[in-house]
Amino acid sequence: MAITRDETLDWMRRFAGEVAEHRQELVALDTAIGDGDHGTNMNRGMTKALEKLEGAELADSGAALKTVAMALVSSVGGAAGPLYGTLFLQIGNALAGHSEVDLAAFAGAWRKGLEGVQARGKAQAGDKTMVDALIPAVEALESASDLNAGLRAAAQAAEEGMKATTPLIARKGRASYLGERSKDHQDPGATSTYYLFKSAAEALAG
Ligand code: ADP
Ligand code: MG
Repeated sequence: MAITRDETLDWMRRFAGEVAEHRQELVALDTAIGDGDHGTNMNRGMTKALEKLEGAELADSGAALKTVAMALVSSVGGAAGPLYGTLFLQIGNALAGHSEVDLAAFAGAWRKGLEGVQARGKAQAGDKTMVDALIPAVEALESASDLNAGLRAAAQAAEEGMKATTPLIARKGRASYLGERSKDHQDPGATSTYYLFKSAAEALAG
């Protein structure tokens, strides 16, 4: 089992679809502990990404994900644009040149993506950010024995990580300005990261 370029394109279309469908939810979550723009930001970025993908000559999955990264960086401001841009750029770089991506390559690419997000944003586990969905999902991929099981386990782990942000006090990003008052709210970035893994499982698991 391996991931092809066309499956990666399907993944990105599905992720854009999830973001569009859940735009209001992401806005509501970010209104509670931020400035209310996360759903709008991500929807604008992924709409731009799909436009760029349609017109591009894409050699492989890596090229597709690098195109998404560039579109996000150029169209999304705030914290999430550069962080998701870094995530997709690192994954794309790691997968460039692979016409078919197996579990080991995919897990390795996600590890690079996570490292990039943490190098840029300095968030650790438990800081109530997208990193809290990313870490368990990447670990699930790394400990899986086949691609399909890994993708499903990663989506489930991301969902659990997302839900586990609710009781946390934010230590990074705008939500950290609220201190204790950031408690009892699910993190918007961890929520969009869950949708990224949900769409990966749907598009990439056979
Ligand atoms: P902004 O906070 O600039 O308005 P968004 O609302 O689009 O940007 O994104 C907010 C999300 O970004 C948060 O919910 C959190 O998950 C994520 N985030 C913010 N700062 C960081 C950081 N330093 N490291 C990782 N993720 C972060
Ligand atoms: Mg915001």
